[in-house]
Amino acid sequence: ETSSRCTRTPDAGVPCARGFRGPFCSGHEPAGRPRVTPMLRHLTYKIKSTGPITVAEYMKEVLTNPAKGYYMHRDMLGEKGDFITSPEISQIFGELLGIWFVSEWIASGKKAAFQLVELGPGRGTLTGDILRVFSQLGSVLKNCDISVRLVEVSQKLSEIQALTLTKEKIPLEKDAESLEYMKGVSKSGIPVSWYRDLKDVPEGYSFYLAHEFFDALPVHKFQKTPQGWREVFVDIDPQVSDKLRFVLAPCATPAEAFIQRDETRDHVEVCPDAGVLIQELSQRIALTGGAALIADYGHDGTKTDTFRGFCGHKLHDVLIAPGTADLTADVDFSYLRRMAQGKVASLGPIKQKTFLKNMGIDVRLKVLVEKSEEPSVRQQLLEGYDMLMNPVKMGDRFNFFALLPHQRLQGGSREMSAGQSKPSAAPVAGFDELAWE
Ligand code: SAH
Repeated sequence: ETSSRCTRTPDAGVPCARGFRGPFCSGHEPAGRPRVTPMLRHLTYKIKSTGPITVAEYMKEVLTNPAKGYYMHRDMLGEKGDFITSPEISQIFGELLGIWFVSEWIASGKKAAFQLVELGPGRGTLTGDILRVFSQLGSVLKNCDISVRLVEVSQKLSEIQALTLTKEKIPLEKDAESLEYMKGVSKSGIPVSWYRDLKDVPEGYSFYLAHEFFDALPVHKFQKTPQGWREVFVDIDPQVSDKLRFVLAPCATPAEAFIQRDETRDHVEVCPDAGVLIQELSQRIALTGGAALIADYGHDGTKTDTFRGFCGHKLHDVLIAPGTADLTADVDFSYLRRMAQGKVASLGPIKQKTFLKNMGIDVRLKVLVEKSEEPSVRQQLLEGYDMLMNPVKMGDRFNFFALLPHQRLQGGSREMSAGQSKPSAAPVAGFDELAWE
C-alpha cells in the first residue's frame, strides 16, 4: 500500500527540512522597519515591565503562548508551511518505526497490552503510518490491547491529528478542563487520547516516540566571558523602536548550574525542559518497561550556537517578527544521556541513514517501487528516500536515540533456550547492523 505524499514543489525546489540547510535555504532577513507582530507587542510590553527575558523564556512564549504562540493556531508543516519532516516526506519512515516498536514488543516478551505515546505528533502522519503497520501485522499483534496517547499543546494541530487518525463516524469527545482533553477511536479501532503534558499520560507499559519534538523545547544560552559564564537575554534595542536584540547578563544567573564544570566550549545551549522529560521517561521505563525512541537533529555535546528560525522553508532571523517563524535548537544528546541518570540504558545517537538502513529501508523501498504502477509515485518514493538517506540532506544530520530498560540489554526478558547458560539479549533493531540480516 502506498500513500501519496508530495515531496516536491515543481518550481520552488525541495522543501527545507529543519536541520537540513540545503542549497534552498538562504538566510533571508526581511529588510526595513521591523514588522510589529502581536507577539512582538506582547514581548516588548513584558520586557518593558519586568526586564529582559532569557532565550528559553523567549522561545517558550514565541512557540507555545496559548493566545499567540507559533505552534498554537496553525499548520506549519509541509510545502506551504515553514518546514517539512521525515514522516511528511515518505511513508517508509513511519513504517520502519512501526516495525521497530513491534520488534521491541516481541523482544521484551509480547506483553498483553501497550500504549504508543507520541510527543509532538504534528499532523499525526507518523502515528498514522505506524498504526497501518500494526494493522498489517495483525496476526502478530492480534491479542495485544493497543492504545495511542498523544502529547500535544496545539489546538490546531490536535484537530488535524484527529482528522488524520480517527474514525469520522465516531464523534470525538472533548473536555478542555480534563487532563485527557480529547478522545477518539482510530480507523483500525484503537483508542486515541490527547494530553498537554507527558505527566498527564497514564503510567504503564509504553512505547514513547518523539520525532522533531525536543528541538522545539526552550534552550538557555550561555557565553563564556573573561568574568565567567554569562547568560544571553533578549532585550529591546534602545536605538530602534520595536526591535529586539541579544544582551549578556551583567552577572551570573541561576541557570548557570546546568553547565558542566569541565565544559570546554565557549558558547553552550542547555534545555532543562528536555532534561525533565528524559527523567520522566527514564523513570517510567525503568518502572514499567517499554522503550523510548527519540529522533531529531542534533549533536553529542559538541555544537555551540544552533538556535535558529525557519519561515517558508528559509532560515529566518530568530528575533524578527516573532510568532511568524518556527524556532528551534539542535538537540544535545549527551545532555539527554546524562539526564537518564543511569536509570535506563541509552543507545545512540546514530545517524538516520544508518538507523534506517539497519531497519531495512532498501528492501521496503524496492517492494513499494515494484508494486507501484504510477511513474510519479515511483519517483516520489525515490526522491523521498534520497531526502531521508542522503548524507548531505537528512541522512547525516538526523539522529536516533533510544532509552531501554537495563534488563532489555542484559537479556533478562528473553526466554532461555535449551543448553544456554546465560540469557543473551536480542539485538536492538536499527541500532544493531546484524538485526535484519
Ligand atoms: N513530530 C511531527 C511534528 C514536529 S513539530 C513530525 O515529525 O512531523 C513539533 C510538534 O511538537 C508540534 O506538534 C507541536 O505542536 C508540538 N509541541 C511543541 N512544543 C510542545 C510542548 N511543549 N508540548 C507538547 N507539544 C509540543
